[in-house]
Amino acid sequence: MLFYLRVVPGRVRVAVRLRPRSAEEMMADADFADCVELQPELKRLKLRRNNWDSDTYEFDEVLTEFASQKRVYEVVAKPVVESVLDGYNGTIMAYGQTGTGKTYTLGCLGEEDTAARGIMVRAMEDILADVSLETDSICVSYLQLYMESIQDLLDPANDNISIMEDPKTGDVSLPGANIVEIRNQQSFVELLRLGESHRFAANTKLNAESSRSHAILMVHVERSVKGKHSALSGENGNNAHITTLKPAIIRKGKLVVVDLAGSERIDKSGSEGHTLEEAKSINLSLSALGKCINALAENSVHVPVRDSKLTRLLRDSFGGTARTSLVVTIGPSPRHRGETASTITFGQRAMKVENMLKLKEEFDYKGLSRRLDVQLDKLIAEHERQQKSFEDEIKRITTEAKNSISEVERSYADALEKDRLKYQKHYMESIKKLEEQLVNNQQKNGIEKVPVGLEDGGSALTSNIEEVAELKKLLQKESLLRKAAEEEVNSLKSQVAQWKRSETSENLKILKLREMLEDEARQKEKLEAEIAILHGQLLQISFEADETGRRLDRGGFGKVSGDLDSLLSQVKHQQQESGNGEKASIAKLFEQVGLQKILSLLESEDADLQIHAVKVVANLAAEETNQEKIVEAGGLTSLLMLLRSSENETIHRVAAGAIANLAMNETNQELIMDQRGISLLSMTAANAEDPQTLRMVAGAIANLCGNDKLQMKLRGEGGIKGLLGMVRCRNPDVLAQVARGIANFAKCESRASTQGTKTGRSLLIEDGALPWIVQNANNEASPIRRHIELALCHLAQHEANAKDMISGGALWELVRISRDCSREDIRTLAHRTLTSSSAFLAEMRRLRIDY
Ligand code: ADP
Ligand code: MG
Repeated sequence: MLFYLRVVPGRVRVAVRLRPRSAEEMMADADFADCVELQPELKRLKLRRNNWDSDTYEFDEVLTEFASQKRVYEVVAKPVVESVLDGYNGTIMAYGQTGTGKTYTLGCLGEEDTAARGIMVRAMEDILADVSLETDSICVSYLQLYMESIQDLLDPANDNISIMEDPKTGDVSLPGANIVEIRNQQSFVELLRLGESHRFAANTKLNAESSRSHAILMVHVERSVKGKHSALSGENGNNAHITTLKPAIIRKGKLVVVDLAGSERIDKSGSEGHTLEEAKSINLSLSALGKCINALAENSVHVPVRDSKLTRLLRDSFGGTARTSLVVTIGPSPRHRGETASTITFGQRAMKVENMLKLKEEFDYKGLSRRLDVQLDKLIAEHERQQKSFEDEIKRITTEAKNSISEVERSYADALEKDRLKYQKHYMESIKKLEEQLVNNQQKNGIEKVPVGLEDGGSALTSNIEEVAELKKLLQKESLLRKAAEEEVNSLKSQVAQWKRSETSENLKILKLREMLEDEARQKEKLEAEIAILHGQLLQISFEADETGRRLDRGGFGKVSGDLDSLLSQVKHQQQESGNGEKASIAKLFEQVGLQKILSLLESEDADLQIHAVKVVANLAAEETNQEKIVEAGGLTSLLMLLRSSENETIHRVAAGAIANLAMNETNQELIMDQRGISLLSMTAANAEDPQTLRMVAGAIANLCGNDKLQMKLRGEGGIKGLLGMVRCRNPDVLAQVARGIANFAKCESRASTQGTKTGRSLLIEDGALPWIVQNANNEASPIRRHIELALCHLAQHEANAKDMISGGALWELVRISRDCSREDIRTLAHRTLTSSSAFLAEMRRLRIDY
């Protein structure tokens, strides 16, 4: 059971976040490993102590350099914001060395990249989305605390603000600070920007680095909640007067976000231009905070909140119902290891977790999990960006459609107006004409009144008829014009209808885009759920594997040992000794995964899985009882194939190690030889850079050198040359294995010569090993020296080698060995060899060596 999964009410929850390497660090520290290594799936952080040792710490959350801002918000801040909306107090703090990302985590406005929005901005988004502005209110103050003085970041002239505490409720308030009501996200972002610029200006004026001050954002959320029916009885207790009321309940929550001052210790001497008093004062709030967190974590009765302004301000965030979340930020640079370590310790104290597990890694799932994590975070950030651009696109299309509609409407109105004017003009002109004609007619009629019927009435009639005809014509023209106008109106109307239709289709398009967006969101959710399941499984496997790895590791594998034999026997010994627990865990691994499955993973496409599988096989191969099973199942063949097919040096190293283990058994040695193992091992050695790889390969060949039956074949396939090729690497562990191989070979050869199955010079001499042997006969590393001394003694036992040994300077070494070797058995052997060879005796006489 993992204890940190237990949720203790009110416990300070602590996440650690690693900042990615900056460009400068990439350059300057290119050759150095990060000082920390994260295992987010296990919620662990390893702080490197030196090249081979590290301390492991557990946190509530471990956020890698790839963690997206959204993820950080969700794990660190969201639960706190939710409680604030429920009417509790909540605090989110960032603690860490200057430059590790406190402000980025909390205060980034994300104006260039939406995905970079920090906790403050996202918290307000969530709050605004949840409240209703008709009934609820959101108010904000933004302050800075420097040298125990509180200044209003929204009105910098307003400084030295005092803290008021309600003696009854313990509520803390700052009556002097500006409180601004927030009604939308934009005004809040503006406010943050303003505060930030004031913070910068104020600090420049004070000649302080902004990293020395604390920035505090306070968000007051008041919500009215419909109450339950509550019965109030009259004062006289008369139940007949029970009234049913629905009083509005106001829920008040306060969110405090604190961007703490940089945690680096400032020089006590005040070298930044501060006096000692100032230096103390600058640190006061931060150290008081540490003390309070300690006291809280230890459930101490007394929490010294009164010691500083910061802790007084945070006082009501420290109650039993408040949620407090701390994110400790660290950088990767090995140069700041000390500061990083103290930041981690602060975080650990805040978590009240004292046990620091020390683990050594053998099983390595972290790569895989890290990749998943990175992928997930990239997806989250990408999704957020896409969502933003989708929304922007929708907005753009909507505005465009609106614009074109209003343009059509405008031109329609214009055309209508023009036509109206035209027809009006026509109409007026016709009326005028008619009136003129009427007047004309009347005049004519007036003159002709008297002579009507007397004079010639015929001409008047004619002119009247003509006029009527003209009027008729005019009327016809008029009605034609009217018809044309009507047609034009109709066509304009249909145009408008068409625009309306196209607007509908735009709207449909927008709807479709929305649907696509939702689809995508659903898909993402599904993916995330799958990833979460995978994570869970991974966690389980990693945990078990870790346990197994740790047991396997205990006291042997990690140590650098010069002698492979002793190394392997040590591991075996350990495994036998540690008894049931160990056997059980290996048996469990077999049971759970199955050997065939593990072996099949050796061919996996996934490099991480492959490496992992090789490590598992290598660990299994270290135990004698497993070796037969591994070979039977084809494991040896697969391992040899890996030497050929893989280009990964880790795989080469681990596979060679496993082969070296398997090569301790004679049957396996023959199998290795049958599968051209020597050429594969020699090829691996020729391409290897890592001394550990060479050590494993040399160890494997050295084991093969000790098999009497394989001498000729081994030499024929270039085994001796391969072995000698590895001395280019001056690593003593590698040289010790080479020396052991030579000694093994010389011993077998010597046995064969004695039995008469071999004649002639040693194949070692034939292949040019003698100069190296002579050079290293007195090597200061005892494992090398010892093996070579033995090899020289074996070679010297056969007269066929004497001539070469004398000319190569080996005689001097033998004489030295026979006199000075610290091991008596070797000394005696050298002596006996020298005195039983006539060639050596003659040479010694010639050289006047007194023997
Ligand atoms: P602090 O407030 O702790 O002094 P900052 O937030 O100012 O640190 O970060 C220092 C620099 O590192 C800034 O340029 C910031 O943009 C960058 N930075 C910090 N954290 C991250 C991160 N997680 N990803 C990318 N850049 C980061
Ligand atoms: Mg900062």
